[in-house]
Amino acid sequence: MNILLLGPQGSGKGTQARLLCEKYGFFYFESGAYLRKIAENNPELKKYLAEGKLVPDEEMTSYLAALFDEKNLYDDIIFDGFPRTLSQYNFWRNWLTQKEVSIDLVVVLEIEEEETIRRLTARRMDPTTGEIYNLITDPPPAEVDADKLVQRDDDKPDAIKVRLNLYKERTEPLISELGKDSKVVKVDGARPVEEIQTDLVGLIETFKNEHKD
Ligand code: AMP
Repeated sequence: MNILLLGPQGSGKGTQARLLCEKYGFFYFESGAYLRKIAENNPELKKYLAEGKLVPDEEMTSYLAALFDEKNLYDDIIFDGFPRTLSQYNFWRNWLTQKEVSIDLVVVLEIEEEETIRRLTARRMDPTTGEIYNLITDPPPAEVDADKLVQRDDDKPDAIKVRLNLYKERTEPLISELGKDSKVVKVDGARPVEEIQTDLVGLIETFKNEHKD
């Protein structure tokens, strides 16, 4: 089954996705992390990311198709951060249809803007491993040197504002479109990690039971 996690930045998509991947062995596609890797050798792309702006749709979709075509992988994927616009969604839906798979479950993690800003401001990245921590909710383990952690350029106040506005203007309108083809479930993202995870596992188990061959 394929799952799409939606929600504003800082709503906990990454944390939930990692737990689900550990439990079910899904492949985790995190568009932001994937782009940050490519951007190491692509200054133009790096600029989009630093400013919190969306990478142009055509460029984004070609990165996505290249990655999955190379792996020949189209199922049992958690998508996080893609699609983010209607045009990306239209491309994606056609592409998945051609591969004879669908988006079986869309989870929207909902969280207040104030809480998003609080979480993003406390977020830090290990520049060596790319691992993301949160100084408040998910501090680094003892073996990680906390002084070496950095704040992502796009977790600084100006870029946070740009990203939250883009989520509202470009990504939220997708929710009703997605509802036409997939099961969409809204989940309160302000609750403890374990509680949210229990809900998500419940949704996956229900889907699996309903689609037993
Ligand atoms: P994220 O870590 O998901 O917040 O993504 C970080 C940055 O990567 C975003 O602010 C965008 O610049 C870029 N990005 C990630 N996913 C997409 C996408 N689907 N379309 C365009 N740009 C994206």
